[in-house]
Amino acid sequence: MAGFIELADVTKVYGAGPQSVRALDGVSFDAERGEWIAIMGPSGSGKTTLLNLLGCLDQASSGSVRIGGVDVSKLRRADLTRFRAETVGFIFQQFHLVPHLTAVENVMLAQFFHSMTDEGEALESLKQVGMESRASHLPSQLSGGEQQRVAIARALVNDPKIILADEPTGNLDAENQRAVFRILDQLHEQGRTIVMVTHDENAGRLADRRLNLEYGRIKENLIFSAEQNQDFDEVLEHLWMRTESRGHMESTAFTEAQWRRLITTMAQIGLVVMKDGIERFTPAGEARARDVIRRHRLAERLFMDVLNINDEIEIEASACKFEHILSPEVTDRMCTLMGHPTECPHGSPIPQGECCVEKRVLDSAEMASVMRGAMRGRHGRLA
Ligand code: ADP
Ligand code: MG
Repeated sequence: MAGFIELADVTKVYGAGPQSVRALDGVSFDAERGEWIAIMGPSGSGKTTLLNLLGCLDQASSGSVRIGGVDVSKLRRADLTRFRAETVGFIFQQFHLVPHLTAVENVMLAQFFHSMTDEGEALESLKQVGMESRASHLPSQLSGGEQQRVAIARALVNDPKIILADEPTGNLDAENQRAVFRILDQLHEQGRTIVMVTHDENAGRLADRRLNLEYGRIKENLIFSAEQNQDFDEVLEHLWMRTESRGHMESTAFTEAQWRRLITTMAQIGLVVMKDGIERFTPAGEARARDVIRRHRLAERLFMDVLNINDEIEIEASACKFEHILSPEVTDRMCTLMGHPTECPHGSPIPQGECCVEKRVLDSAEMASVMRGAMRGRHGRLA
């Protein structure tokens, strides 16, 4: 079956002659309707170029870009503009709100370019992002996070088939980043197709799939399934515990060959390096290991202290599941719920999170919502 989005051997060259830049170099990939794809990669690797081609803001030099069966590289300018208005909703890092228009007018502007303005619909769209009470505010009267939510409402108002987001949280603080990702997660739950450029590891993990770009090419071996990511987490956890237990080596569920293959892949994506025949963390690997360990040990505490489960095997099995599904937000709230514990039930240290610095306590309504969040996991399914 053909994908909803299909890029075949797409190349984009800016300029001509010796000064030309090959921003994309033979990129091919398919995405299904309803998929959430994160595009990652270093600055200058072609992420924005790729998004602009998907958003019909620009056209490929060669290759084809098909969206919903339409080859957009063959559309004429006027058709392209119409196709874009009907098909995609853009969210930018810089929000791009018109300064002298109110929130609701900014949303209506997108309707204007699409069909007809409808204030009721625009307000409905603002409501979806929790901004209906700010409809008559100017962008300058809104925080960065609020401006981005208005921009998301604008992207949603024409009910686009695809949401394209270029580093949507690049200018936001941690709390507003989480708010934006929560909205994107809701849009994903609603079945929308999302293509998002991000630098944020955690954000990348929210997506169904990641495409890693480098020098305008997709690093094919860097597209991992949830299962593969869980294997990486297992390896990272094992390496973390090895540093804690000083010499005593716990066994893993992997065969030697599997372990070697995993380490090779993880070295390629910059999670570990081999030094003197020993696997060591890179800073990125260590940060990810820390997060996994933190989720695991907090989950253990939750089962034991809050849910009063005392069966060791049950606790371990559940913690192993939870460590893969807890979002950073739920993890921090769980930590807060339990008063920022520093040790797991077995006495191993729990790495501190952002929330541990503030040491806030929860009221009972928040507590209930944390419990619900923890029971449901990230996608609202029971773990
Ligand atoms: P990213 O979003 O990953 O940082 P871009 O897609 O913006 O990367 O850029 C990829 C490459 O193409 C870079 O080398 C950049 O300088 C170049 N580039 C992007 N847009 C243009 C343009 N309009 N004209 C010339 N070069 C461009
Ligand atoms: Mg960019």
